[in-house]
Amino acid sequence: MVDTIFQILYRDGMGRVGKLSTPHGDVTTPTLMPVIDPSDVILSPNQMRREFGVELVMTNAYLMLRHFGEEAAKQGVHGALSYDGPIMTDSGGYQILRYGDVEVSPEEIVRYQDAIAPDIATILDIPTGVQATKERAAETVQITLERAKQAVELRSNPKLMWCGPVQGGLFSELVAQSAREIGKLDYQLHAIGSPVELLEGYRYAKLVDLVMTAKKYLPLDRPTHLFGAGHPMMFALAVAMGCDLFDSAAYVLYARDGRYMTSEGTFHLEELSYLPCECPICAEHSPDELRRVPQDERVKLLARHNLHVTFGELRRIRQAIVEGSLGEHVELRCRAHPRLLEGLRRLARYRDFLERFDPVTKPSAFCYLGEESVNRPEVVRSWSRLNGRYEPPQLPILALLPAFGKERPKLEEPERTHLVRLIPPFGAVPEELEEIYPLGQFQVSRELDTMQIKSVAESLSRFLERYGGHYERVLLFNDERRWGKSLVEACKDVGKKLEVIQL
Ligand SMILES: [Zn+2]
Repeated sequence: MVDTIFQILYRDGMGRVGKLSTPHGDVTTPTLMPVIDPSDVILSPNQMRREFGVELVMTNAYLMLRHFGEEAAKQGVHGALSYDGPIMTDSGGYQILRYGDVEVSPEEIVRYQDAIAPDIATILDIPTGVQATKERAAETVQITLERAKQAVELRSNPKLMWCGPVQGGLFSELVAQSAREIGKLDYQLHAIGSPVELLEGYRYAKLVDLVMTAKKYLPLDRPTHLFGAGHPMMFALAVAMGCDLFDSAAYVLYARDGRYMTSEGTFHLEELSYLPCECPICAEHSPDELRRVPQDERVKLLARHNLHVTFGELRRIRQAIVEGSLGEHVELRCRAHPRLLEGLRRLARYRDFLERFDPVTKPSAFCYLGEESVNRPEVVRSWSRLNGRYEPPQLPILALLPAFGKERPKLEEPERTHLVRLIPPFGAVPEELEEIYPLGQFQVSRELDTMQIKSVAESLSRFLERYGGHYERVLLFNDERRWGKSLVEACKDVGKKLEVIQL
């Protein structure tokens, strides 16, 4: 058994910056493995390492077997690609998804990978796909699990790390079963299968269900790979769900098509008047110049631009994790496309689960960027602090004071009064908890939107439901111009104890 050599250096929510140690060097995650077609190398792995900081590349063991046969086994995959850095091999699962079948047995592909010795190898799984019926989906999960168990017995090269894929497609209970079972086996990392069709169709809400279900049941200390994902516009969302590795040939497939990636979406070179990017290729060329160069050269230039954008976004995400602003970064990216926004909104269903992984304090301030921010772990936590173990101090008067008032009103009996501030979007915040992160450190629009008001009103009515009985009097300092009738509404069950003081 190979030790799982994955060290988590920083975290923010479920996102993490990690170090994956392989026999051919360390890999910083999250990262993308550019897929190299061994029979048609557009950019060499060495050039990618130099130019973009690529550390890990992927190639396909099934295609190597078909093109080079046992010849490649002699020189190994590192010799075949002339690259001495870390390499992962895929097994032909993707070819099954696209073409229905492959001409190789699962045993053969395990033995072949043991022989060509990549740093990370993959068993021959059966991708579920999104068209599968439930019966077929269950079958793909079952066969993949049987092959995963068989591969553990067959493996003979102790240096290799092995990737165990999760299948199940759109059927959450099957994804859960697949993740739970494969997580018990001796694998060093896991891949989440079948996202490609969801990504191609912009079905990000379904993607969120797939990834979050798998992550709930996979061992969290093993790196998670999202098969076939390669567009920088969705990296932030995927990393926030705990994905560490991506692989894709999109950089070159898009380039062949004249498609130009950005972190916000895709353009076609034909439609660009300006190149919206800071990379050297875009700084040195105009769209017209790119359109005029011969096709082969243009593919290379566009592929290089696509990789610059990809790795630039990955570095931005890593930095966001280090400073604790991944949530803000995800919201920015998900506002680039309505379907990504759907994905972000779907993620709200998993907010209690996500909250468990969020660090209790972060180097940067919490920034409220819009209605989706109320689902961030910091807000969920400020609500949950008032459940269960919270005990209000033994004081007879409760004063409810909305945030952003001009000045603090004079209290008649301050020593007998428990002050609770109403802070959007965090809700009811007892004075003694005000210094806990992020309450001492946040940025929020003072022009309240409906979600900020709703979040505070809901939190306040829950607070009063739970603790209202502790107090003899409840004073609500109301600022109706800002809050409308929402705060008075939230206090309606307090009854005669309530005194409303207009600010
Ligand atoms: Zn560029």
